[in-house]
Amino acid sequence: MNEILKVNAEDLDCVIQPGVTREALNEYLRDTGLFFPIDPGANASLGGMAATRASGTNAVRYGTMRENVINMSVVMPDGRIIKTAARTRKSSAGYDLTKLMVGSEGTLGIITELTLRLYGIPEQISAGVCQFDSVEGACNTTIFAMQTGLPMARIELLDGLQIEMINKYSGLEYEAKPTLFLEFHGSPDGVQEQIESFNAIAEDFGGGNIQWVETMEARNKLWKARHDAYYAMLAWRQGSQGIATDACVPISRLAECIAEAQKDVAEFGLVAPIVGHVGDGNFHITPLVMMDDPDEVIRAEKFIERLNMRAIAMEGTCTGEHGIGQGKRRFLKIEHGAGADIMASIKLAIDPDNIMNPGKVVSFYE
Ligand SMILES: Cc1cc2nc3c(=O)[nH]c(=O)nc-3n(C[C@H](O)[C@H](O)[C@H](O)COP(=O)(O)OP(=O)(O)OC[C@H]3O[C@@H](n4cnc5c(N)ncnc54)[C@H](O)[C@@H]3O)c2cc1C
Repeated sequence: MNEILKVNAEDLDCVIQPGVTREALNEYLRDTGLFFPIDPGANASLGGMAATRASGTNAVRYGTMRENVINMSVVMPDGRIIKTAARTRKSSAGYDLTKLMVGSEGTLGIITELTLRLYGIPEQISAGVCQFDSVEGACNTTIFAMQTGLPMARIELLDGLQIEMINKYSGLEYEAKPTLFLEFHGSPDGVQEQIESFNAIAEDFGGGNIQWVETMEARNKLWKARHDAYYAMLAWRQGSQGIATDACVPISRLAECIAEAQKDVAEFGLVAPIVGHVGDGNFHITPLVMMDDPDEVIRAEKFIERLNMRAIAMEGTCTGEHGIGQGKRRFLKIEHGAGADIMASIKLAIDPDNIMNPGKVVSFYE
């Protein structure tokens, strides 16, 4: 199911089948001057992205799949086919079935059609790289930029280790220091103003001169290197498996949460680079684990448990974008308490025979 069914350019939306990938959609839209912004790095299917409530590098400006799915057709477990909403930008007609289905990880029904929001391709796109002596400086710059309302399109943190890895894998030559990859969208004057404001903030927190990435080719190389971060990690510690983590906290707690996690990495003796969509308070630390070393596996598991528990204790979440799946069901209960029981009740009401992705998200049946 990979057809693009309709582009309503005047309404800034499109109707697609769930197997269309985000790259295929943007390739199709190229001549219209429109684009679909959600970019999880991987060339995922838009059905899968809606099912996992995916986000990624430019969610800080455009939101996640939650904000960008307008309507869906869904085949329900009993065979009924529903539309979750009208094609309008807003509606107050009843419960929000679209938001119920986005992020349901295939446990409530099968998405067979999606109506997605589209955006005009910005007149000016500028990308840059800003390096810091400490992760704290990079985080505080991010926090301050967000608090002052700078409309960042992308603001991605990579720690020194991750920079070493992508330098080697993608042929870049940045200093092995905590680094922000940045992107600004808008009119030429607007982008210039954003850049000046950002520069002033970064300087206050020890940010070095921003290195601007001027051409589209260089910009694509930068973001490709960011998107290849996972593969750069695996190439760095050959034979290891990357255990992806995904914590998200209110942005004011970001610097503290990352600093504590770094102390844990040292305490547990792990190799674990950091990348983060820090404008959203979301980051990933990926322990690179030799799975044939049982002691290292246990240390990684303990580290991940502590990371999840700390994020929840900071009024954050155990997953900003990867979802619950099977591995995080325990943390869903800790994070939501009785709310997790309500989720199980919804699952039972909609799918009493438990035929939709049994065993994922809710643990009602165990
Ligand atoms: C290298 C890498 C980097 C990534 N970085 C990010 C990131 O930065 N941000 C982020 O958000 N994610 C990230 N991801 C995860 C990515 O967003 C997900 O893999 C994606 O959202 C799922 O899409 P998929 O096509 O792979 O779906 P699948 O893996 O096929 O499915 C994912 C889930 O959705 C369900 N599903 C799929 N299609 C439907 C449907 N039509 N109806 C109902 N349920 C369905 C499946 O049953 C499954 O539970 C990354 C992944 C990789 C490999």
